[in-house]
Amino acid sequence: MTVHQEQSHLSQGRPAGGTEVPEAHAGRLAPRFRVEGAAEADTRPVERPVPIPVPTPTGHRFLIYKQDPSVTELGVRPVFVPTVVLNGPADARVQTDLSGVTPVARNAGGDFIFTPNTPQFDCAHAFAVVRQTLAMYERHNGGNPIPFAWNVNGNTDRITVFPHAGTGANAFYTRTSKALKFLFFTPQGQPPSNVVFTCRSLDIVSHETGHAILDGLKPGWLSAGNPPQTGGLHESFGDLTAIFLTLAQPDQAEAFVALTKANLHDKSFLPALAEEFGRALGMSTGLRNADNDLTLSQVSNEVHAISQVFTGAVYDVLADVYAFELGRRRRTEDPTIVLIDVAARLCRLLFDAIVASPATGARYVDVANKLLQVSAGRGDPAIYRTFIRNRFAVREITTAPTPLTDLMSGVMRMSDAEYTGDGQDVTEVEAHDELSASLRAEQDRSRCCGTMQMPEYQFVPPERLAKRGPLEDDDILRGELDELRRAFK
Ligand SMILES: [Zn+2]
Repeated sequence: MTVHQEQSHLSQGRPAGGTEVPEAHAGRLAPRFRVEGAAEADTRPVERPVPIPVPTPTGHRFLIYKQDPSVTELGVRPVFVPTVVLNGPADARVQTDLSGVTPVARNAGGDFIFTPNTPQFDCAHAFAVVRQTLAMYERHNGGNPIPFAWNVNGNTDRITVFPHAGTGANAFYTRTSKALKFLFFTPQGQPPSNVVFTCRSLDIVSHETGHAILDGLKPGWLSAGNPPQTGGLHESFGDLTAIFLTLAQPDQAEAFVALTKANLHDKSFLPALAEEFGRALGMSTGLRNADNDLTLSQVSNEVHAISQVFTGAVYDVLADVYAFELGRRRRTEDPTIVLIDVAARLCRLLFDAIVASPATGARYVDVANKLLQVSAGRGDPAIYRTFIRNRFAVREITTAPTPLTDLMSGVMRMSDAEYTGDGQDVTEVEAHDELSASLRAEQDRSRCCGTMQMPEYQFVPPERLAKRGPLEDDDILRGELDELRRAFK
């Protein structure tokens, strides 16, 4: 029985409200049987001579697509969200809005488990993925909350998730509406019943949530007035968020390791982003592919393509560090455990480097230098920084203080923790080409996701966007309104 079939079996033929499972039984049953069949189980009291520690009864199960409906080898699985979630679903940071459906109530067991692809499922799915994405970065933030761009001066306004925000092949984050909006569409030439819901894609939901989180960390980065590379950082952060969220889930990491035999460059679901959406648009490896070989001189000022250069460099660093750590720990740890650990450490490194980068106009070389410096500061082996320098240099992002000869000829000493190429552990590099269009031209956002196309990030002055606090629709029209005010004297 495949994973997908098993879970369908679990949820089929049951009312949306689910079945209550007595806790004493649930603990003794294999996870796959914990819902269905629990009622028929042995009802005798459990013999328990010694009291057992009982965890604080907080948290709920949600059913989510591990990738999206088209990635059937992973399918739909229950996940545990270990915080308090109210009917909605809603918690202190995130709420859900679907007219005529929300608030969605928890079932008798306190869980948000619904038949896949029902409106209730879509609400719970979108909420769960947003919540997990936020939780992942808050863990990297030392357990501290990350404010949304409007959370200043005691403002605690939530972000609202709209799982069925309208028709269109798109999804976006909007600061003026304090919202994440997921649209749905029927691909060209397909019957009307083949609707693609962007809220059902873990990649798309976590990508858009990445925009919201980065806008909270760096409110000055979304403005189209920045260099194209700053726009590229936003798009790339969304894609990398989807990859890191995938690798933060042990069952996904294990499925990936088994599928690829622990080779991150093998073709798989991991670097392929938004598979179902991409296929609907005729792309076989997803909407974009993190495992690419693009360099900056190949991408001009087109932000979507520029973002793939950064994503590709970080993905290559992830693959390098994993190969190194796998070799070093292969006799002591399971490859899946090593991958989860390596991905979490790299995600934390990226998070810290972004926080330490300039408030506006950030370039790839700025983040690369922070990656090097934070890595050195936290005591990573020197070879980590060699990987970073090499991969950013090969992409024509930075200069190459370490000769690339060993990398390019495939003779890098991958098992030598102190390897630097020439003995220099450099933590400050320069931009490869200061005259690059990716640094000097206007941003071309025509192929970016819906977030980057929003007028609020194009017409609100960069200095206004860089300030935290609420942003109104009138802020977008401010220049025009001021002109009208003068004309209507
Ligand atoms: Zn995006």
